Amino acid sequence: MKLVLLGAPGAGKGTQATKIAEKYGVTHISTGDIFRKNLKEGTPVGLKAKAYIDKGQLVPDEVTCEIVAERLKEADCKTGYMLDGFPRNVMQAEALDKMSAPDLVLNIAVDLDKLMARLTGRRVCSACGESYHVSTFSGNKCTKCGGDVIQRADDNEETVGKRLKVYTDQTQPLIDYYKAQGKLAEVDGMKAIDDVFAEIVTVLDALA
Ligand code: ADP
Ligand code: ADP
Ligand code: ZN
Repeated sequence: MKLVLLGAPGAGKGTQATKIAEKYGVTHISTGDIFRKNLKEGTPVGLKAKAYIDKGQLVPDEVTCEIVAERLKEADCKTGYMLDGFPRNVMQAEALDKMSAPDLVLNIAVDLDKLMARLTGRRVCSACGESYHVSTFSGNKCTKCGGDVIQRADDNEETVGKRLKVYTDQTQPLIDYYKAQGKLAEVDGMKAIDDVFAEIVTVLDALA
């Protein structure tokens, strides 16, 4: 399966990606996680990406597309992939169509005005990337891997506001891009996490 998860920041892409990977064994690729790993390790890519991530802007397409192209060449992508956070604009979608076009694009639809609370309350595992929310999680160790659970530097009100604008301007048009290709499926991301997942399972099982 070659799957793209589409949705605004905070729609629940990472949360659902973990569950999809567990159930279907598909390789989860998050460009945000790749950038944060590079940042932590102080690589040239990480240093370059930092300025954009801090401002809530997109990292330039050349850098991002190159990273995805290299990642898709790895052995665990032989039978497919699940992309989370890529593509984020039409340029990237066109680049992906040339590399290895998706079979299905799942749009996780949400009310944009509910996302500020989700994102400023988000906590993430610094080791495996698992997402939590302060309303339902109070510890500081990841229940999946034992890693430290932290708040992302870009999950502050100011940067979230900018990221939501970038989404509306650049990423939302991809809904029509994939609709025109007949590849779009939509689930209701305002439901509870397990109910969203149940909808996704219905869509994915119908593929097989
Ligand atoms: P994304 O990867 O799309 O940016 P996440 O999966 O990290 O989003 O989710 C953002 C925040 O919202 C996290 O704190 C997560 O726990 C929470 N969340 C995810 N899905 C839901 C949902 N269906 N209902 C309520 N909160 C959710
Ligand atoms: P969220 O799921 O909350 O939107 P991500 O972890 O996907 O956050 O992305 C965090 C940041 O990493 C983005 O604001 C952007 O700066 C950078 N980034 C991630 N994916 C891409 C991409 N496909 N193109 C450009 N920048 C990206
Ligand atoms: Zn973890």
